[in-house]
Amino acid sequence: MIRFPRFLHLLALLPVLLILGGCPGRSEAPAAVHRSRILMGTVIEITAYGPEQKPLERAVGQAFAEMARIENLMTPHQPQSDVAHLSAADGPLQVSPETAAVIAAGLKVGAASDGAFDMGLGRLKDLWDIEGEHPRIPGAEELRAALVGTGAGDLRLAGRTVTKRDPRLLVDLGGIAKGYAVDRAIAVLQAAGVKHAAVNAGGDIRLLGGRGDRPWKIGIQHPRRKDAILATLELANTAVVTSGDYERFFERDGVRYHHLFDPKTGQPARLCRSVTIVAPEAMLADALATAVFVLGPVAGPELLQRFPGCEGLIVAADGSTVTTPGLAGKVTWR
Ligand code: ADP
Ligand code: MG
Repeated sequence: MIRFPRFLHLLALLPVLLILGGCPGRSEAPAAVHRSRILMGTVIEITAYGPEQKPLERAVGQAFAEMARIENLMTPHQPQSDVAHLSAADGPLQVSPETAAVIAAGLKVGAASDGAFDMGLGRLKDLWDIEGEHPRIPGAEELRAALVGTGAGDLRLAGRTVTKRDPRLLVDLGGIAKGYAVDRAIAVLQAAGVKHAAVNAGGDIRLLGGRGDRPWKIGIQHPRRKDAILATLELANTAVVTSGDYERFFERDGVRYHHLFDPKTGQPARLCRSVTIVAPEAMLADALATAVFVLGPVAGPELLQRFPGCEGLIVAADGSTVTTPGLAGKVTWR
């Protein structure tokens, strides 16, 4: 996931979601830590409030270390990772319990979304190279070849053993692993006694408690107006994750080619500009954001109804917006 030349480029980008507002009052939280680090191909920001500075700093350091550990398990770019081993495997392979749990969650979203979420699209991702040095528009034959073996049943999981239907399948956890890493960072902060924190991995956010006594205010980036905020959400103790077509893309002849693929066509999905999911966990929110983006503003909310506690704010391809009922009262339009 980390490729050095992209760092400077990524740093210049606005995060998909922003945490707005200053610190809570001194009486609520005398100590505050705000740190950022580049991991998993994006800028990770951790904000934490608490009674004492030193333990807070230590906890935030541990949370970053935990995210680096998850990256090492799930990145395709490190030869010893579970994902690299899986992609090289030509038979059943046992993975770590954590990678198995992430794959299980992804398969659940894959099945519920009729295959809109598919962790077997690694060859398709490499073919487009949207996030790499040489992005290009593949031809029909190349697309067909990259999709061979993908689709329902491409990955099977039994306990910790993963079997690929086609040995050529390249596994890609890019649509879910960052969410899991954010969940792990929150778990580490919580275990260290932190009660108020926010972890933002380039638009995959999880909030622990509120910002002091009040909810956190989360700004959703306008998908077409740079530096503008479309809406704000007031949230606490939840995950909020956005997938959009405006951060990792290139344009050719007025057409935008981005990194969220419709597995049925192999083309960038065309029905949405951005999808924000609010869910109890970032891992689930991450996968659902990708799935709903592919399904669009009509089938997307129907998918969310099958996941209790999961809500969505969708900006459709024509710029119209849809919010699911559970977000009523939490959204302020700008
Ligand atoms: P990011 O926050 O990195 O932009 P997203 O959660 O929006 O990531 O997911 C985008 C990534 O998900 C892509 O870079 C690719 O690795 C993977 N991906 C793209 N399309 C799909 C899909 N239909 N199903 C599962 N994963 C996908
Ligand atoms: Mg995702």
